[in-house]
Amino acid sequence: MVIWKRRQAAAEPTILMRTFAWHFLYVPQMSRDKTVRRVSTANQVVESNPMAEVLDSQTRKAFADRLRYYNELGIYDFYRRAPHDIPSAVAVEQNIPELTETAPQMLRAAIAAPPAVDRPAALRMIREEIGDCTRCRLHKQGRKQIVFGVGNPNAELMFIGEAPGADEDEQGEPFVGRAGQLLNNMIKAMGLQREDVYIANIIKCRPPSNRTPERDECETCSPFLMQQIKVISPKAIVALGAVAAKTLLAVNAPMSELRGHWYDFRGTKLAVTYHPAFLLRDPRQKKETWKDLQMVMKELGLKAPEKVSE
Ligand code: URA
Repeated sequence: MVIWKRRQAAAEPTILMRTFAWHFLYVPQMSRDKTVRRVSTANQVVESNPMAEVLDSQTRKAFADRLRYYNELGIYDFYRRAPHDIPSAVAVEQNIPELTETAPQMLRAAIAAPPAVDRPAALRMIREEIGDCTRCRLHKQGRKQIVFGVGNPNAELMFIGEAPGADEDEQGEPFVGRAGQLLNNMIKAMGLQREDVYIANIIKCRPPSNRTPERDECETCSPFLMQQIKVISPKAIVALGAVAAKTLLAVNAPMSELRGHWYDFRGTKLAVTYHPAFLLRDPRQKKETWKDLQMVMKELGLKAPEKVSE
């Protein structure tokens, strides 16, 4: 039987650290600072360092992978516990051999397990990270609110538009105006409901007078969309219109060339089709759009609902 005894911890302030610092400084620092005494039942005290024992190279790598995973979700900041949160020597001295003896194994098992993604929670974290955003000029150009995205966090299909318009800015939800009604019809025609899919835009704030988003606005805002895509990890993405297509694919080509094909977007299939607002102006293109949507349906194994005869 072995118990662990922590040396009275030197006062350490609560530190907010970037993962980089945490990974490269905190762990080694812990290895240096947190020397403990290992006490055998024979009451022999051996100076030892649990982090050095716990963090063998394999565990370290698993730890690094996990941290990278959190980074990719956009989570960079970790709080180090304040000293009062660290169990005192007295508390740790309580004889809890089962826990202490198996802790390294438990840690390894926890790290080895694939991370169960709590998508709603991860999306909430991204939203919190955005905060009351002032990262680009749009925050002082009349936007009422940030339009984050809406829908099923576990969606297999994601639609990405350009930017919120007046209705979206008012309601805080993408595609709720006339273009949104048409998008809803497109989704229904695919045999889905709006609630089944996830809908977002390249930028989250309404540009003044619904102008096309500037490149730097897209560059500033789209990393949050990338995080949303990463969390939702849909089977397919449909980029609605040129702004969405060009931003996601980093290409400059006309819509007539961009649509009608599959693209690989960071491992996810991406199709391009016309923006519903464009279809409202030029309904003749609905036929072409339907072809694009059928390509997506085939990929997802969706069937169009049978028409109800009246
Ligand atoms: N157009 C878009 O691109 N997005 C919306 O949310 C609404 C209209």
